[in-house]
Amino acid sequence: MNRREFAKTGSLLGAGLAAGASVQARDGKFVSLESDFYKEAAKKLPVRHFDVVVVGAGTAGVIAAIAAARQGANTILVEAKGYPGGIAVEGGTALHSFYNLWKAFPGVEKRQLVRGIPAEMIDRLTARGGATGYAEMMKHYAYDSVCTAIDTEMYKLNAFEMLDEAGVNICVNTLLVGAIRSGSSLKGVILESRSGREAIYAKSFVDCTGYGDLAAHAGASYTEPNDYAYAVVNSMGLANVNIERYFHFLNSSDSVGQLAYGPRDGIPGQIVRLGSEGSNGYPDGFVTGAKEIGMSSISTTVHDNYLMFIKLNLNLSQSPTDRDTVAKAELELRKRMQTGVELFNKYIPGFEKAFMSRTSPNLVTRRGRLITCDYDITHEDVIGGKHFDDDVFVYGFHDMAPRLQIKDGGSYGIPYRALCVKGIDNLYASGMMITSDHRAHMSTRNTVSCFGQGQASGTAAALCAQKDYGSRQLPYGELHAALEKGGVYFES
Ligand SMILES: Cc1cc2nc3c(=O)[nH]c(=O)nc-3n(C[C@H](O)[C@H](O)[C@H](O)COP(=O)(O)OP(=O)(O)OC[C@H]3O[C@@H](n4cnc5c(N)ncnc54)[C@H](O)[C@@H]3O)c2cc1C
Repeated sequence: MNRREFAKTGSLLGAGLAAGASVQARDGKFVSLESDFYKEAAKKLPVRHFDVVVVGAGTAGVIAAIAAARQGANTILVEAKGYPGGIAVEGGTALHSFYNLWKAFPGVEKRQLVRGIPAEMIDRLTARGGATGYAEMMKHYAYDSVCTAIDTEMYKLNAFEMLDEAGVNICVNTLLVGAIRSGSSLKGVILESRSGREAIYAKSFVDCTGYGDLAAHAGASYTEPNDYAYAVVNSMGLANVNIERYFHFLNSSDSVGQLAYGPRDGIPGQIVRLGSEGSNGYPDGFVTGAKEIGMSSISTTVHDNYLMFIKLNLNLSQSPTDRDTVAKAELELRKRMQTGVELFNKYIPGFEKAFMSRTSPNLVTRRGRLITCDYDITHEDVIGGKHFDDDVFVYGFHDMAPRLQIKDGGSYGIPYRALCVKGIDNLYASGMMITSDHRAHMSTRNTVSCFGQGQASGTAAALCAQKDYGSRQLPYGELHAALEKGGVYFES
């Protein structure tokens, strides 16, 4: 049954057909209303009131909630898992990127483009030994000039503490299951947890779920492109690794392709990012095996004897929003991870006794739903280094570099309009769910861009809630001033 037939059947059900009745779907088949549908009884839900609701405590959502709360908004952050972090702690190798690509463009000034709350979070994490800071790339710097690697567990705690200190009401282990619309505005969200089902009413909303769950529930329009062939990933951490032996192995055949030095367990000047140039330097058996399981070998670390992220890729035949397809993929990826460890044990010096010490709780994807916003950032905007009259921060990394880079190693702007969900007055989208063009998305989806989007949407949501504005009534000057006060850096 397709979506239209489903809707038709649903409306017949709503009209209260007698038990035992059936309807004919477009394919001619009769669908029994009695056995194929269960009509849920209406429930009275308890209601709580907030100024701002942020859904998803991932890469963008953590920053959005801190930003909103620091503006003085009574803010609730809703997260399905038991901790904040999102794909930053589940998929990414390093956080790309706080800086412009100065190393690839000799003579270009080195600039920290993303500052404000994201930089504060990473500086604080670095100070406690949970990140490398901004370690300069010694090789492959046409891709990124710096490497910001993190300890995933310390990142979660650091984010949790910052949210708590900002006064955010943190609702972890809680799933968003519905949205309550009132005309062109969103009135509330419906949450489900072991404490039961509840409604949260608020003035402004920020969707940071990665998949755009809130926007989809609210009736926003979206697409689900399969331009990465629906690639999904689980990543594993490998412990008991001798990183220096691994480096010497690659170096002996001049195959070190990615390299950065930074602090490891408090000692500066250690290898924190390492990878080969393509598959150069690896034994044939490893190369063939790694290809079969979609395994990449570039990784980062902030500890001795440990590599944080080894990624296993899998292409799906259907969207990662399809539950049953994903269930099969979760199993397949876990098999691939085990095979991956065995390949490292067998073939690569320094990994003889390595073992899998962390995996992500579920597979992740580079994009699921793409939510339609007032402006859709284009490929030309990104590589042309375009700035808009409503920029909310600037950014300079492209995941297809060195093939695609931002003009002259500079920056482009993310416009406010790109975060306003089309057709809904008080809903922002932030993170990997914006930007429909594949190439432009290969820039805007990266972690540090998601951070920047989070600070912008959280700040805007709070300002709107305080002044009873819809998102399109917020004067840009007010937003710009608040963002600058929050440490956001701009250039034009
Ligand atoms: C495999 C992989 C590797 C990557 N590598 C890099 C890299 O090396 N460097 C880089 O900069 N970028 C990388 N990226 C891109 C980047 O990490 C992501 O695009 C970015 O982190 C997405 O952030 P987000 O806030 O949109 O989503 P997320 O960080 O996924 O946050 C979404 C949060 O919402 C929660 N959530 C979802 N639905 C609900 C719901 N219904 N109710 C409650 N909570 C919900 C989720 O649990 C999650 O915590 C990678 C991405 C992937 C998939």
